[in-house]
Amino acid sequence: PQLVSSAAIQKVIEEAYEKYKPVMDGKNASYIPYLAKADSKLYGIAVVTVDGRVFRIGDAGHPFPVESVSKIFTLADVLHKQGAESILHKIGVNATGLPFNSVLAVELNNDRLGGSPPSGNPLVNAGAIATASLVEGKTLDAKWQNVIDTASAFAGHTLRLNDNVYRSEMASNQHNQAIAMLLQSYDHLYADVSETVDLYTRECSYDVDAVDLATMGATFANGGTNPRTHHVVVDAATSAHVLAVMATAGLYNTSGEWLFKVGLPGKSGVGGGIVAVVPGRLAIGVYSPRLDAAGNSVRGQLAVQFIADALGVNIFASE
Ligand code: GLN
Repeated sequence: PQLVSSAAIQKVIEEAYEKYKPVMDGKNASYIPYLAKADSKLYGIAVVTVDGRVFRIGDAGHPFPVESVSKIFTLADVLHKQGAESILHKIGVNATGLPFNSVLAVELNNDRLGGSPPSGNPLVNAGAIATASLVEGKTLDAKWQNVIDTASAFAGHTLRLNDNVYRSEMASNQHNQAIAMLLQSYDHLYADVSETVDLYTRECSYDVDAVDLATMGATFANGGTNPRTHHVVVDAATSAHVLAVMATAGLYNTSGEWLFKVGLPGKSGVGGGIVAVVPGRLAIGVYSPRLDAAGNSVRGQLAVQFIADALGVNIFASE
């Protein structure tokens, strides 16, 4: 595919920024105290291309907790090291159609009933917790090092745990503990429960900014090689598999509506981040903390949709 001109990209992110700046719909995530306190006026957009160009506007350098966007990088690490069959059979790749932290989804998907594995897919909490239980390492710290090293390679610089977020989440993650125990009861958790929930919680608690998200997404767009550092982070097959799961389940229970409207694989997090990937071309990262009812950034979705329309990058369009 043809590369989009720098002038066109800069113009379109400026338009998207101005157009949605006044939108104040939605609310910060309230169930994690740290996120409830974030300044909900913050708004930043970044685009990174597969030839390493970086475009930004607004609060694109403002750090925020990665939250569920991290699920795609941990998935990439496990897929890359353990292969697609392991993810298909141990975690599953079908949409649950239910909220990201649904316990009901675990029950409904249960393969005792002939369905998919109970964890659903790697981009809902159950599947991400099960994926975290497959991360390699002898100790919790070794596993964590693996997770943060992979994420850092995607971003092209060292990412760090935000201790305040981590503590805030550890004190309020009873629901995720329950999911992990339920998975264990069905023999679909592959490491110790409390260690796995701790690892999953750390994975949600490192900071990124919109430029990081766009760079990390552009690494997927570029077949697993970071377009700014040229580091081969994962192979192209892994990258394509992660994008497929993002298209299926990246925006929780509204993933279908997202794909219908935007036509791009995406991933959101309750910290207000969202990333969308145009395979072979570029990625868009947006930060805006106010969320819709499903947990997706309101302005993030609007901005990505506007940019994707303007650049004509819907993957299903014939030209
Ligand atoms: N840490 C959050 C949780 O586990 C992440 C969820 C999200 O971003 N959707 O509930």
